[in-house]
Amino acid sequence: MTIQEFHEKASCEGWALGHFNISDLDQLQAIALAAKNLKCPVLVGTSEGERRAIGLKSAVYMIEGIRQDHGVTLWLNSDHSKSVETARAAFDAGYDSIHIDLSHLPYEENVKGTKDIVDYVKAKKPEVHVEGELGLLKGESKIQKEIIEVRSEDMVTPEQAADFVSRTGIDRLAPAVGNIHGLSANVKVIYPDLIKKIRMAIPDSVGITLHGGSGIIDDLIRRAIVAGVNNIHINTEIRLADTESLKKSLADHPEETTPYKIVAPVIEAVRLKVEEKLKLFGSVNKIQ
Ligand SMILES: [Zn+2]
Repeated sequence: MTIQEFHEKASCEGWALGHFNISDLDQLQAIALAAKNLKCPVLVGTSEGERRAIGLKSAVYMIEGIRQDHGVTLWLNSDHSKSVETARAAFDAGYDSIHIDLSHLPYEENVKGTKDIVDYVKAKKPEVHVEGELGLLKGESKIQKEIIEVRSEDMVTPEQAADFVSRTGIDRLAPAVGNIHGLSANVKVIYPDLIKKIRMAIPDSVGITLHGGSGIIDDLIRRAIVAGVNNIHINTEIRLADTESLKKSLADHPEETTPYKIVAPVIEAVRLKVEEKLKLFGSVNKIQ
């Protein structure tokens, strides 16, 4: 099944695909083990920074290698490509899914650049999924000590969503619906009623992605899925599971010099976190 088919299946059945970011092969191994254990289709994302750290081609071949080693259904997404050029470079390298995020630009420039990527991708490889972004999404994938406020004007209206989707031809929309990236001093809030209105304003075949899923309480995540979200991003909670277990492993075994032994508990900690999220998203047992 294609990415599009899985998104439509998730929408029909009321669950969401998990999207997890990676900085290295250990995190990818952990995600693959979780996907295999729970029989889940999963998206793996690399931001522009993560792509620079891993390498575009290396990321593509790592995913292909993991698919073959573990027999899992994973796709590679270019999370938050901030320009047409970086989105195009990811597609040219062989990414399965392109997230073009021009939400920092004036609206008409966002429409034009996003449509340029949709046209470029669909002319060459129509099965590659394209996500566009709308509204102001604040924060970074880390622990932020300050309060991050989301104002009503930062969020997307259903009318804007409908216009953006019809003019760009995207497969998935990432709308700002109260969400922020990373963890903040304030409790994270999203608005299921707004998600539902956006869901009703755009075609059923177009997916809705929720960015900044880390730190949102489980009940609100479930309500977002009921309202129409079918793809949820988790990055910061993966990074925390990784770095906390790595620090502990190094502290517990100061004499250890074999890297794969040092990171074994890291892979385990990340796997458990990913499995927790996949269960929450309802995506267990979707691979036959
Ligand atoms: Zn994001």
